[in-house]
Amino acid sequence: MNVILLGPPGSGKGTQAERLESRLDFIHIASGDLFRDNLKNKTRLGKVAQSYMDRGQLVPDDITIRMVRNRLEQLDSHRSVLLDGFPRTIAQGQALEQILLELGRELSAVIYFQVPEEVIVKRLSGRFICRECQTPFHTEFSPFTECPHGKCNGEFLYQREDDKPDTVRERLRVYIRETRPLIEFYRRTGLLIEIDGNMPMDEVTASIMSKIAILDERMSDEQALRAREG
Ligand code: AMP
Repeated sequence: MNVILLGPPGSGKGTQAERLESRLDFIHIASGDLFRDNLKNKTRLGKVAQSYMDRGQLVPDDITIRMVRNRLEQLDSHRSVLLDGFPRTIAQGQALEQILLELGRELSAVIYFQVPEEVIVKRLSGRFICRECQTPFHTEFSPFTECPHGKCNGEFLYQREDDKPDTVRERLRVYIRETRPLIEFYRRTGLLIEIDGNMPMDEVTASIMSKIAILDERMSDEQALRAREG
């Protein structure tokens, strides 16, 4: 199964992807994490990406597409994939179609997280992350009380450069201009599944899991039918 998680920054794609990865045996590929890994390892790609990321802008398509293609090529072809944060432009969506085709994969669904803009700004600008273990906290919704690993007293918490209020607003502008057109792009393919991303986290997970279960069943039926016919 190849599933895209689509939605504005801060709509909960990353959190849900991690939950689905552990419960449903998906490989989670987050383009933002791939860039941040490059940044941490001080690669050339990381250096190029940083200037865009810090300003809340998109890294150019050719660089992003090459990076995601490399990651997908490394995977065992039988593993299911959850793409989080990619594609973010129509050009990336078209490139993804071609990459999946070349790898013998087929897009199964696009899960679109609907979250109102004011909720996004509140979620992102209150987010603080532990530099040591990457655990996210939130000044209002999940303030730091103790380290889940018992290793610190919150001294490693930092705010991502791109979670600062001005940059959050720029990321939203970029989302509206570049990424939102993908909703129509995928609606036309009949693969778009809309989820209310403003529900409590557990309800969002349950809702996605039930949609994926239906999809899984349908794909198994189709496979069985093809096997019988073939
Ligand atoms: P994220 O963690 O998904 O919010 O991504 C953080 C930043 O990485 C974004 O603001 C962009 O600068 C960059 N980025 C992540 N995914 C993409 C993408 N598909 N296309 C271009 N830039 C991206």
